[in-house]
Amino acid sequence: MRKPIIAGNWKMNKTPAEAVEFVSALKEKVGSVTEREIVVCPVFNALVPVSGVIKGTSIKLGAQNVYWEDSGAFTGEVSVSMLKASGCEFVIIGHSERRLYFHETDRTVNKKIKKSLEAGGLTPIVCVGERLEERENNTTFKVVETQVKEGLSGLKPDDMNKLVIAYEPVWAIGTGRTATPEQAEEVHAFIRKTLSGIAGEDVSNEMRILYGGSMKPENISGLMKCENIDGGLVGGAALKVDSFVKLINYE
Ligand code: PEP
Repeated sequence: MRKPIIAGNWKMNKTPAEAVEFVSALKEKVGSVTEREIVVCPVFNALVPVSGVIKGTSIKLGAQNVYWEDSGAFTGEVSVSMLKASGCEFVIIGHSERRLYFHETDRTVNKKIKKSLEAGGLTPIVCVGERLEERENNTTFKVVETQVKEGLSGLKPDDMNKLVIAYEPVWAIGTGRTATPEQAEEVHAFIRKTLSGIAGEDVSNEMRILYGGSMKPENISGLMKCENIDGGLVGGAALKVDSFVKLINYE
């Protein structure tokens, strides 16, 4: 049984004070929900204060990025151990905005995943997804397969079930244009088949594959009814307590 994850990717939004205000309200409403795994991913400088507020609740903390070295002359970067020391249990890796604006590649995604798993205790949420022109060229499956295979290259089957995949069609992110449940399920099923080819069916059946791309309270139920959709990585609709709570409490 795969426990659904509802993860909020706040991107570059909310000061530490605003983030604390958000999670203070959130924990009153869903702080004891256990049937769904709830994750919030604030900006780096809000991690420690948010971690203090959610301590002892079922809300978990994630970061939006990580670097693969332990420490040293890497201005602007943050390591796995630093994230863990800030209370993080999850980290988003390879978000399409990082691929697009910060030139992340499957190779750097792979290094980040390996480092997160090696140190243990930090679950990567690995983002994959095709751009609009790739969908229109009918190369969605090829693109996603390459991202999954190269991103996860060299991982031991034992490590595979410690990570989460997020299928985020780039054309649906922040655009209000959601993939239909059929479109999303088709790719999720394909991703699970690809994972099965890498790590075997038992492991791939345990792995959670989230959908991301304009998920909101109005469309989550249809998406979550699909066999291979195990939760959501949510941007815009995770920024307001009310809509995030509705997403967590979807039926
Ligand atoms: C995201 O950035 O991961 C995302 C899915 O954003 P949105 O929900 O706003 O489309």
